[in-house]
Amino acid sequence: AASGSSPAMKQVKLEKESELRIEVSFNSSLRLRLLNGTAEIFGTEMPPENWLIFPPRMKFAIFTWYGATIEMQDNTETDYVADETPMISYVNVHAVLEGRRNRAKASPSDSDASQGPRVIVVGPTDSGKSTLSRMLLSWAAKQGWKPTFVDLDIGQGSITLPGCIAASPIEMPIDPVEGIPLEMPLVYFFGHNTPTVNADLYRVLVKELAQILERQFAGNPESRAAGMVINTMGFIDGLGYDLLLHAIDTFQATVVLVLGQEKLCSMLKDVLKRKPNVDVVKLQKSGGVVSRNSKFRASARSQRIREYFYGLSNDLSPHSSIANFNDLSIYKVGGGPQAPASALPIGAQPVADPMRLVPVNINRDLLNLVLAVSFAKEQDQILSSNIAGFIWITDIDIPRKKITYLAPSGGELPSKFLLMGSLTWIET
Ligand code: ADP
Repeated sequence: AASGSSPAMKQVKLEKESELRIEVSFNSSLRLRLLNGTAEIFGTEMPPENWLIFPPRMKFAIFTWYGATIEMQDNTETDYVADETPMISYVNVHAVLEGRRNRAKASPSDSDASQGPRVIVVGPTDSGKSTLSRMLLSWAAKQGWKPTFVDLDIGQGSITLPGCIAASPIEMPIDPVEGIPLEMPLVYFFGHNTPTVNADLYRVLVKELAQILERQFAGNPESRAAGMVINTMGFIDGLGYDLLLHAIDTFQATVVLVLGQEKLCSMLKDVLKRKPNVDVVKLQKSGGVVSRNSKFRASARSQRIREYFYGLSNDLSPHSSIANFNDLSIYKVGGGPQAPASALPIGAQPVADPMRLVPVNINRDLLNLVLAVSFAKEQDQILSSNIAGFIWITDIDIPRKKITYLAPSGGELPSKFLLMGSLTWIET
């Protein structure tokens, strides 16, 4: 389109069981609508005729079971139609899960039988794990279930900021633009985007999250029958593989969906064959999944943090507040020797205790860090507490001992206990 005028429009006709794959341009958003027929975006039905606006860089597909026509601006980075997709195999999985949910619902008083499917989605990065999780959740929600989404991916989480593991009930099909509502998720702060920094802490948080959910399910037959969909990290070798097994075990997964990797699938089948109630299912990766390089990932993480404070379309106004150094207690987990070297026997090396809570001195190094606000009331609860939200440090005034931070809303922080990791953000 000529500069200044709005981009030309075009219509795309989709035959049944095909999809339109789109990468939105890097610097402008995309408007499109469903003109006729029916179509869905990652499991959520498109409303007829309403214009939808997709932000720059978004990558997604519009799939139709029976045929559809899409009207769209002709200004994408790429868009093309594909008629080969793994959607039939995905919806078949959904049908099996549906059967299991119905069976669970039919026997509310039996503690084993009342548990719906616990699905865990595994595979390398960019195999479509988050997308498949989302479809399974939206299809279930469309049928009236309230499944729980658990996101263990600290690299590119879909529930909250990077560096966290989180869970949220999904009560409605997930909005194709807005994603998962940030309202009441249960979030634990790990603080880094790779587990290698402190794998013990990662395991402890996964266990903590699983125990809380277990308790919630015990009192809620409806969500128990709906079950869970657990998304995992793309890290599947060495430590990554151990952490996958740990997650399968800790959440007592009953269905393991393996995307796009034969080797991982056969390894899991082999170790899980001693558990007859766990099904390992290999699924094809969609040809539409877009590979994202590390630069793209980093910018997606940064975008996520911006979105937390400013909203998806700059529609939130975060509050800047000032606190005295004394008003806040900042901690990090792990690192630091267990005991001072002088207290150790001669010749012994001090060992870092991965679960030690280390107080952090406030200095200029904290600038630009994103800290988590703990729900802990006492210091000894910090390790096992989930978090209320995040603040971003924008200024440290050493002489006046004042710290300036941005929070999504004003008022007092729910706790003075803050957790620090390596999560930082620079406003761009
Ligand atoms: P993973 O969770 O395995 O890292 P994702 O599910 O996040 O992978 O997919 C990677 C990217 O590809 C995401 O931006 C997603 O929206 C996009 N994507 C997934 N499936 C399709 C598809 N069929 N067509 C177009 N884009 C897709």
